[in-house]
Amino acid sequence: MLSPSSSSDLDLERALIERFGLRQFRPWQKDAIDALLSGPGRVLLIAPTGGGKSLTYQLPAALLPGTTLVVSPLVALMEDQVRSLAARGIEATYLASTVPFEVRRHRETMLARGAFKLVYAAPERLASDAFVSLLARSNISLVAVDEAHCIAQWGHDFRPDYLRIGGILERLAPPRVLACTATATPEVRQEIRAALGFRDGESVEVLRGFARPNLHLAARYIDGPKEARAAMFTALDEALGSPKAPRGGAIVYAATRKTTEQFAEALREKKYRVGAYHAGLDAGSRTNVSAAFSDRSLDVVVATNAFGMGIDRPDIRLVVHVQPPSSIEAYYQEVGRAGRDEATAHGLLLCSGADIALRRRLVETDRDGMNASSEQAARAWALFRELLMYLDARTCRHDFVLRYFGDEQELLGGCGHCDVCATIEARGAASDAAADEETALVVRKALSGVARAGRRAGLVAIAEMLHGDRTTRSERFGFTDLSTFGLLAERRPEFIVSLLRAMLAAGWIDLTPTEHPVPFLTGTGRDVMHARLPVRIALPPETAPVGRKARRS
Ligand code: ADP
Ligand code: ZN
Repeated sequence: MLSPSSSSDLDLERALIERFGLRQFRPWQKDAIDALLSGPGRVLLIAPTGGGKSLTYQLPAALLPGTTLVVSPLVALMEDQVRSLAARGIEATYLASTVPFEVRRHRETMLARGAFKLVYAAPERLASDAFVSLLARSNISLVAVDEAHCIAQWGHDFRPDYLRIGGILERLAPPRVLACTATATPEVRQEIRAALGFRDGESVEVLRGFARPNLHLAARYIDGPKEARAAMFTALDEALGSPKAPRGGAIVYAATRKTTEQFAEALREKKYRVGAYHAGLDAGSRTNVSAAFSDRSLDVVVATNAFGMGIDRPDIRLVVHVQPPSSIEAYYQEVGRAGRDEATAHGLLLCSGADIALRRRLVETDRDGMNASSEQAARAWALFRELLMYLDARTCRHDFVLRYFGDEQELLGGCGHCDVCATIEARGAASDAAADEETALVVRKALSGVARAGRRAGLVAIAEMLHGDRTTRSERFGFTDLSTFGLLAERRPEFIVSLLRAMLAAGWIDLTPTEHPVPFLTGTGRDVMHARLPVRIALPPETAPVGRKARRS
């Protein structure tokens, strides 16, 4: 067995191949493991679901002396991992309230004797003083906190028991702590670091692996279910080909149980081998649908977000959302199930005005159907509005998502395989240099309007200024005296507002986090304004898109 200082790259590679049967590290796995073993020993790892985060604690656990404690809320997953570790000859066990008392006591005795390389514990175990004392007496060389976003009250999956982890880390003072999550906005990351006592300069953040270059992304507003159905058929036809000999599988996500049943029926009529999946079905039916999709006796599943865990089919060619999910995190996780085999796959997101109204009602109720607190509702609504921004995007959708997750290293500056990039490229192919110059000019004018507004006013007031409207608001802000007043007088007001929103989605402008948010130029926006960066944007149409009205609410 290795002491941490002697674990060279060679040892890590050997363990990867011999103990885990894998050929090479994903670069960020290596970064995280290095930081854990030879770096500051405090690591926050953010990588997508299915990316391979568990290796980053399992492999060190196998090499380090002592025991690794893994806190995880997913008992079903613990069982799986313990079994597959056992198959690799790595001693592991798990402790949860589902384990009978006698068995648990036996495992705890063994833990104290150092019999395990890994011990998985459900968060509620941390509430037991006896258990924490036992940990304190054991040789814990690494604590891994899986699903670390559960610690954040800002997150979508807060678990009060997770708040105990901070105190336990203080008591155990383990030499290494790894926190893993697939979903963490900057606020949530900040909360995780604070709750775990990670200090700047003494901890490392590894955030990578969100880019999915084989995934073609498209999104658009639609009128309603009829158009959703037509779009679904077209997308399925393009991605799978004939229902009789499909080129792989597809998942259709909808927001309600009723819609899944209706869309599944429509697909059945077209001779697709299709199943519906939602929480209203009994467990047996759900397992059957899931198994049939895995063994390819079903080609399409129409599902609510209840369908997800344990989908291991690599040849999913299409994920279409006929109704939008609750957030960008949820969307990217669901669409990310397509193309796991690295071959080309498609994601299509559809949204109607009625879907937005439905979501507005949903965020007002919590999981138990009670009225959500206004704070909860506001957070949920803010997360959904980010998804609407994604729909609104007029710059590369992949870049949008990478920026959202903070995965700046993987930004592409336009991917060439999303619907927005395709539009931009088609325009380039038409090779209308004058039109390109016109687009760039309009964008730079709008950006200079935002700069001149000097954080005084909101988007609509800035649009009025650019349009040259002598409103009392314009007068009050002193906008009528600015050189940018009326700079876009020839454009329709709706066009200017859409353009400003698109610039927000592009990350060229941002909003202050104040009670009345006002836009300001970002660093990238400044570069675009000064023509140091190219303007890759599809201008909004001169007429307002569908759903615009509903989104104002
Ligand atoms: P996560 O915890 O990030 O959701 P997992 O740790 O469950 O993901 O890993 C998902 C899958 O990726 C597993 O089947 C695992 O064997 C595989 N995997 C992990 N690392 C690698 C690698 N370096 N090369 C190939 N496959 C890997
Ligand atoms: Zn793109």
